[in-house]
Amino acid sequence: MDLTSVRELVDARCALPWQPGDAWLAGGTALFAEPQPGVTRLRDLAVMEWPPWEIQDDHLVIAATCTVAQLLALTQDPDAPWPRARALITACCRAFSSSFKVWNTATVGGNLCLALPAGPMISMAVALDGMCRLLAPDQRERLVPAADFVTGAGRTLLLPGEVLRSVTLPAAALARHTTVHRMSLRPHGRSAALVTGTYAPDTGRLEVVVTAATRRPLTAHFVRPPSPPVLRARLRELLEPGLIVDDVHGHPAWRRQVTQQLAEAARHDLMGE
Ligand SMILES: Cc1cc2nc3c(=O)[nH]c(=O)nc-3n(C[C@H](O)[C@H](O)[C@H](O)COP(=O)(O)OP(=O)(O)OC[C@H]3O[C@@H](n4cnc5c(N)ncnc54)[C@H](O)[C@@H]3O)c2cc1C
Repeated sequence: MDLTSVRELVDARCALPWQPGDAWLAGGTALFAEPQPGVTRLRDLAVMEWPPWEIQDDHLVIAATCTVAQLLALTQDPDAPWPRARALITACCRAFSSSFKVWNTATVGGNLCLALPAGPMISMAVALDGMCRLLAPDQRERLVPAADFVTGAGRTLLLPGEVLRSVTLPAAALARHTTVHRMSLRPHGRSAALVTGTYAPDTGRLEVVVTAATRRPLTAHFVRPPSPPVLRARLRELLEPGLIVDDVHGHPAWRRQVTQQLAEAARHDLMGE
């Protein structure tokens, strides 16, 4: 796709003030996929050379510019820590309705900032208690929970000129038991519903996160594992009609029904039933 309105491509590190029409360019798999009439200048993040990920004792930092392929490579490394979290991350990477060609270019940050309901990096970041690190043009930083970062379909908490620098996943979340269930109308189609479940046996805390079926991620927290009726009732409360996605990838009534089934499957997995 030719972006005919774009007049300039600049290094993301350049000191030029942010102006209307500016956009961060990461992998470009979304930016170059459809017309962007308002975009006149691209600020290329590829030059940043941020390490794709950094493993510390108590957390994993994933750079916004980490590609899906790089993240997937980490999860496939048998010597890497946190096997349960790696299984969840693998499933989220594979939930993209695209091939390895797109995975080599598409970035984790681009996925979060695009904020599609079916953004699997959003599912991953929310399930694992991710914290988003945002940098303003004046270099001021703020930290925002991934659970709050996406506020609606295509909407985030980013302010003009702010860039998503990284997502940090704490070790406590990375150590939890995990499961992922996904439904799509077609085998390799866009997710119509994606449900992650995590469970900490030491505390009894269980969380179910719903994405793809809803305009923004929804989390059901339980201080102890819920029974099937308790889980169903909590999801009924969360899945308000206005929040369910209505598009070609699935009818809202079907998405609501499927989400309930996937959530019960996640609960069942985590309880080892
Ligand atoms: C065949 C195909 C299938 C796809 N399937 C899916 C799918 O299943 N689910 C899905 O969610 N998406 C899908 N996409 C869309 C897209 O590929 C992904 O969302 C991808 O992760 C976007 O990342 P990117 O690095 O290419 O972002 P870009 O296209 O470079 O940018 C996307 C948006 O985010 C902004 N942005 C990027 N990085 C940052 C940053 N660090 N800080 C602030 N703003 C930033 C850009 O300005 C732009 O508005 C698909 C695309 C294709 C071509």
